[in-house]
Amino acid sequence: MELRPLGNTGLNLSCVGFGASPLGNVFGDVPEEDAIASVRLAFQSGINFFDTSPYYGGTVSEKVLGKALKALGAPRNEYIVSTKCGRYKEGFDFSAERVTRSIEESLQRLQLDYVDILQCHDIEFESLDQIVNETIPALQKLKEAGKTRFIGITGLPLSIFTYVLDRVPPGSVDVILSYCHYCINDSTLEDLIPYLKSKGVGIINASPLSMGLLTESGPPQWHPASPELKSACQAAAACCKKKGKNISKLAMQYSLLNKDITTVLVGIKSVEQVEQNVAAATELATSGIDQEALSEVETILNHVKNQTWPSGIQKN
Ligand code: NAD
Repeated sequence: MELRPLGNTGLNLSCVGFGASPLGNVFGDVPEEDAIASVRLAFQSGINFFDTSPYYGGTVSEKVLGKALKALGAPRNEYIVSTKCGRYKEGFDFSAERVTRSIEESLQRLQLDYVDILQCHDIEFESLDQIVNETIPALQKLKEAGKTRFIGITGLPLSIFTYVLDRVPPGSVDVILSYCHYCINDSTLEDLIPYLKSKGVGIINASPLSMGLLTESGPPQWHPASPELKSACQAAAACCKKKGKNISKLAMQYSLLNKDITTVLVGIKSVEQVEQNVAAATELATSGIDQEALSEVETILNHVKNQTWPSGIQKN
């Protein structure tokens, strides 16, 4: 598995990352033994990056991931763990007091002494000035205390990243996690890459399957896309299937093609999905992407290209 550098952190992440939100049962129930076997196979296949949050399944994802990592019995410096703070089942709280308590709770659930990356989770739902003036300085103290090695911010609207990065001291935010903005149906993250590179900020591209839109079985009930976008993606999936091709493999490969993106963070809930996503990366490295299938899918999705959905505080 190819490793890529993460901004100025000195970390090298596998180009396929293990998104552990499904381990919190957010895409259907996942038996614990399947979760543990998936993490084990992922690690054995060269995936060294695992992402979770206290929000996923109301702490279930962190607990299960912690158990699965422990079961690996591998040296701690051989895997990279990121978790988040500020978003919980009970709601949002980015206060210094809450995020400071949050990391202690996360470390306990993860059975770890430190995480590699601690990220403010979905910052568009609260005041971005609070993130700049209160949350990031609190995380800086946690970094100094050795609770996390690096600091990140996550969310859907791309404007949140420039707002925060333009206002914090250089080097205080190491990483951004963007989701659903570098996949076949929406590639708007691309325009932000030169800015992020100029700041030395590492780029994690999550949800390459657009949270299930680019799968044969389709998205979960809660998916926020418009009916128009959902049906266009299902038409694209059906077209691939008819030709004996798989939309999810194509979608993974599309995201992996851009080497400025350090890791493509895909939600994984089974051994089979580990195998499929690792195979997508391996095949891309040896044979390249199926250009014909990609062009067909792009044509089907053309009328919904870059369509997104509202998230967080809406400006009138
Ligand atoms: P995704 O686009 O990765 O899609 C996940 C869905 O696709 C799940 O149902 C999964 O079981 C399924 N899947 C995975 N591989 C497949 C394959 N090869 N074929 C068919 N189906 C497959 O969306 P996601 O899980 O939301 O995002 C990935 C990860 O990124 C999350 O688990 C989380 O760690 C992170 N993330 C973070 C944020 C944030 O911080 N705000 C937001 C979204 C995602």
